Amino acid sequence: MRRSKDEIAKMRRAGRVVAEIHEKTRAAIRPGITTLQIDAIAREVLEVRGARSNFLNYHGFPAVICTSPNEMIVHGIPGSYVLQEGDIISIDAGAIIEGYHGDAAYTAAVGEASPEAQKLMEVTEAALFKAIDQIKEGNRLNEIGRAVEKYVSPFGYGIVREYVGHGIGTAMHEAPQIPNYWPGEGGPKMKVGNVFAVEPMINLGSEQTETLADGWSVVTKDGSLSAHFEHTIAITEDGPEILTVA
Ligand code: MG
Repeated sequence: MRRSKDEIAKMRRAGRVVAEIHEKTRAAIRPGITTLQIDAIAREVLEVRGARSNFLNYHGFPAVICTSPNEMIVHGIPGSYVLQEGDIISIDAGAIIEGYHGDAAYTAAVGEASPEAQKLMEVTEAALFKAIDQIKEGNRLNEIGRAVEKYVSPFGYGIVREYVGHGIGTAMHEAPQIPNYWPGEGGPKMKVGNVFAVEPMINLGSEQTETLADGWSVVTKDGSLSAHFEHTIAITEDGPEILTVA
């Protein structure tokens, strides 16, 4: 799908709302706060900015953000969990402006995380930017996952394969899927107007995942920590642009 300049302008506005959710939730992360309280902060930003939520009611999801602590990889439901000193917490947030979507995630420490957890977060965020470096007109889509795999592999971490990045536009999840590993030579060439949500999910231990009984929460099978960073990126006439920034 190729989006026009006007469509990307709307996605830029949605992206800024997501960035504001990131900024405000990040500022609130501390021991003692519940994940439901963090969701309330995100709801307030959406309301003030006149944005709709793309997470709420998505296949019945009950909140506007996903909150995934520690060994939870993605899709955690905000609730009564109280953040503890030394936790890490992944926050995935989205917004819709005039029908156009933004989607981005980050992982942060609650107080001070262990050196291992800190390193995992740093590597995962750096992997996202290695992926973003590959997003340019004429480059092949498969290079995105290749860059993540190449960067992360030497650390010995598990690269989650079952959940992937995606195209984004008038729906949160559009074609194509964008894996965080190299799917092999080829793939379509990227074009001006393409907009992608790229989101490496990296585990301290094995790549294997498990879904909890709530039907949403995805955790590492071995109980190891997991980090997740995501941005929405457009290829504009002026070059690649991260839309989910302030
Ligand atoms: Mg996403």
